[in-house]
Amino acid sequence: MDVWEWQPSTTSPTYFKNICRIRDEIVGKAGSIPLLLARLETFSSMGKITVGRVYDWIRAPTGGPPWGRRIWDHSMTPKHSFILWLAALDRLQTLENVANFQVVEKTCVMCGAGNEDREHLFFRCSISRDVWDRIRIWLGISQRPTTLRAALKWLVKDVKGKSYRSKTRRCALASVVYHIWEARNKRRFDMTETTVAALTRRIQTHVYSAMFMQHPELTTNSGGRFIMDHIDAN
Ligand SMILES: [Zn+2]
Repeated sequence: MDVWEWQPSTTSPTYFKNICRIRDEIVGKAGSIPLLLARLETFSSMGKITVGRVYDWIRAPTGGPPWGRRIWDHSMTPKHSFILWLAALDRLQTLENVANFQVVEKTCVMCGAGNEDREHLFFRCSISRDVWDRIRIWLGISQRPTTLRAALKWLVKDVKGKSYRSKTRRCALASVVYHIWEARNKRRFDMTETTVAALTRRIQTHVYSAMFMQHPELTTNSGGRFIMDHIDAN
């Protein structure tokens, strides 16, 4: 695994965990791993990094949108954060975006109704709505997000903090977006259809195992077991 993505286990030495925490904070400040690498490049000359310039940059107040840091939260899986981050910037190659530079049929491949832009694909598509509803009921979320903007606001305002409940919800948001994108790609490029039930189960299983990796003790107690016991059957 890449040094930028490696996650410590609960038994890793404290100094390793601290290094990873600082690494993730710096990645969060830059916005993403590629952006951080590009940023570090500007702090080097002749192949050497000027530590003072890096330090000044790290200490400076963080700019950018409020969700910038939240998307790189520890509770989310890095590859899920990455897809959520691309969606937030509207940089995913949705058919609506592809249509900006080539002639393409824009109809959503998941439902066959509506043009595929990020709002449709992740929140308004009938398949996504069904998946969201199942995840919403599973985790006891009062409303499903209807736009990406609403989802990011929810991430920043409603599910912040260190509680198990908030972490599970943050993990779920990134996981839903990632798995919908994956199912859409399988449908578009491999002609493989994923049912709502299978997609939901994949997300639930991922969220459960990600939370188990982070908090095995909480995930096996009554609150955590609830999420395992209520994973949808296929
Ligand atoms: Zn659709």
